[in-house]
Amino acid sequence: MNIIIMGPPAAGKGTQAEMISVAYPLPHISTGEIFREEVSNQTAIGKQAQPYMDAGQLVPDQVTIGIVAERLAMPDCESGFLLDGYPRTILQAQALDDILSQSGRRVELVVNLVVPNEVLLARVVGRVNCVKCKKVYNSISNSTKIAGICDKCGGELVQRSDDNEETAQNRLQVYIDEAEPLLQYYEDKGILVSLDGDRKPLTVFAEIVRELNKIR
Ligand code: AMP
Repeated sequence: MNIIIMGPPAAGKGTQAEMISVAYPLPHISTGEIFREEVSNQTAIGKQAQPYMDAGQLVPDQVTIGIVAERLAMPDCESGFLLDGYPRTILQAQALDDILSQSGRRVELVVNLVVPNEVLLARVVGRVNCVKCKKVYNSISNSTKIAGICDKCGGELVQRSDDNEETAQNRLQVYIDEAEPLLQYYEDKGILVSLDGDRKPLTVFAEIVRELNKIR
């Protein structure tokens, strides 16, 4: 199964992607996560990406397409993958189609999580993630048992440097501008499913499972 999960920042993509990749199982490929790793290791790609990330802007297409092409060529993607945070532009979507068609593959389903803007901004500002296992929590809808400590592994919880209100507003606007043509692109292909993401994570997940089972 070749799947994309779409939605604005803090729509719940990471949470849903984690559950999907465990249930099916599929490699969960998050371009944001790859970039954060590159930045923390101070690689050449990380140094190129960091100013864009800090400003809440998209990293240039040629850089992003390159890292995705490389990741999708890895053996664990042969029987499927779950892309999260990619594509963000039409050029990235077309490049993905080209990359996949070279090995006789195609995108089979695009899940779009729809959440009202005011809910998204509140979620972003209250969002923290574990330094060790990267699990994401949220003070509004998904808090930890002990403040500041990961329920899963006991690691320390930190806030992403781009999760402040000003950057979040900017990222949301960038997303709105970029997403519309992309949603149309996948709608035209007949593979887009939009779901209400403003519900409990397990309720949203149950609906995603129903959609995934249709293409299995
Ligand atoms: P995310 O974790 O998906 O919110 O991504 C964090 C940041 O990484 C974004 O604000 C962008 O700066 C960068 N990024 C992630 N995915 C992409 C992409 N597909 N295209 C361009 N930039 C990206």
